[in-house]
Amino acid sequence: MITLYDTTLRDGTQREGLSLSAEDKLRVAMRLDDLGIDYIEGGFPGSNPKDIEFFERAKTLVLSHAKITAFGTTRRKDITAEDDESLAALLETGCEALCIFGKTWPLHVTETLQTSLEENLAMVGDSVRYLKSQRRTVFFDAEHFFDGYKADPAYALEVCRTAADAGADAVVLCDTNGGTLPHEVARIVAEMVAALDVPLGIHAHNDAACAVANSLVAIDAGCVHVQGTMNGYGERAGNADLTSIIPALTLKMGAETAVDADRLRLLTEVSHFVAETANLSPYPQQPYVGGSAFAHKGGVHASASARLEAAYEHIDPALVGNLARVVVSELAGRASLTMKAKEMGIDLTGDQETVGTVLDSIKELEHHGYSFEAADASLEIMLRKKLGTYEPFFALESFRCIMEKREDGKVMTEATIKIHVHGHRYIATAEGNGPVNALDKALRIAIGSFYPHLDAIVLDDFKVRVLDEKKGTGAVTRVLIESADGDKSWGTVGVSENIIEASWEALVDSVEWGLSHPRQESARQ
Ligand SMILES: [Zn+2]
Repeated sequence: MITLYDTTLRDGTQREGLSLSAEDKLRVAMRLDDLGIDYIEGGFPGSNPKDIEFFERAKTLVLSHAKITAFGTTRRKDITAEDDESLAALLETGCEALCIFGKTWPLHVTETLQTSLEENLAMVGDSVRYLKSQRRTVFFDAEHFFDGYKADPAYALEVCRTAADAGADAVVLCDTNGGTLPHEVARIVAEMVAALDVPLGIHAHNDAACAVANSLVAIDAGCVHVQGTMNGYGERAGNADLTSIIPALTLKMGAETAVDADRLRLLTEVSHFVAETANLSPYPQQPYVGGSAFAHKGGVHASASARLEAAYEHIDPALVGNLARVVVSELAGRASLTMKAKEMGIDLTGDQETVGTVLDSIKELEHHGYSFEAADASLEIMLRKKLGTYEPFFALESFRCIMEKREDGKVMTEATIKIHVHGHRYIATAEGNGPVNALDKALRIAIGSFYPHLDAIVLDDFKVRVLDEKKGTGAVTRVLIESADGDKSWGTVGVSENIIEASWEALVDSVEWGLSHPRQESARQ
């Protein structure tokens, strides 16, 4: 059994331009749990307020399988483990599993840490022993292991043996600088497997474009724990991409993981969900999960693939929830839509006609820039509209936004909204720090007295992406809004050439979905 350890929420966020709020991280953690990841590294507690908030809120997260893991360092030099603040911060997270990193390369010990090789060994041993005495699962990340091993194999091995002897549940060999090549990994891991009696793990970076290859080679050589990130997000050239590692293990190497065949079909969707949540475009050429990963171009090839798919595809794309693009959009086919609808309490099993119409609409909308991967609530509203079971809570007559830039540099937006609720017409005006904020306030003034539950709904996050310009039209803006009401959170989407219009669309879906799923109901994500 290979242990899957995801560090998207910690190492992944080191990627330039990637930032996740605590709320984002919780939503990603839920999806990683659905996928079957064993350990989800949530962050570096004590390093920033966002991670502290994440671990606080993660305590109430209900996960079916995964364990949230906190990441930190060994004790500092010349103090006891009991007195070390960062070890204390790890324990305070309440996480059952902890991961600490320590130095294995003498150069780093003497130059970066400025301590002796003996003290470094003591730091590793003491820290692991102390955390084990607190009854936690403890993983030891051997930082710069491969470079360290190449420089001084005896010392690198001794550091790992010290962690193992202190009780580490796995010793993770890290290619921190990402420059090691597969044949070196194969040799070194084999030597470590022979020398140590402890489960070994691999943590690879992609600086030499070998992170996935190195991870697979390490597992082939005896590692039983693999660390990586969704979509390979990470510092510099990124981390090992779990969306490639997981299917390779399951489909090609016959390795057992907690991602069974059913869960593996979620891979493409989870990958895109993480991209959307990070406000990054999914990469079309990404192996296994990219939109083009199974797209066939050219006459003979395309028509042949319909008859003889196996001749042109390295795996059946359905196994990872992807599709040969000839068929449909990114959101997948009939079965997954039917399954999604069921999650929303809508039974479509006997209604293949509606399924077909909805899939056509999704395809059309995605062509215009919509993306439903992080906007389940908008998808549900669209579905109910198609089925004719959707009851709007209000009808817009018009809205208007005015922006004012003042002499003192302040920018204010004023929104006026004209709306019909239960046969009455209301006009409301509000000010905000931006158009969405002003529109949201005006809408609440207009309809709040009819729908007291609206008070509980807050807009948590707001993401804007300008999509590629299409021929003959202006650039299109996509707005994603995340909302919450204290026991659940949901995502909605709006698309328009006008950013305010796109925001309004996402805002209306957010409010309407929130109103149609009041707090008392059981929570759904
Ligand atoms: Zn790393």
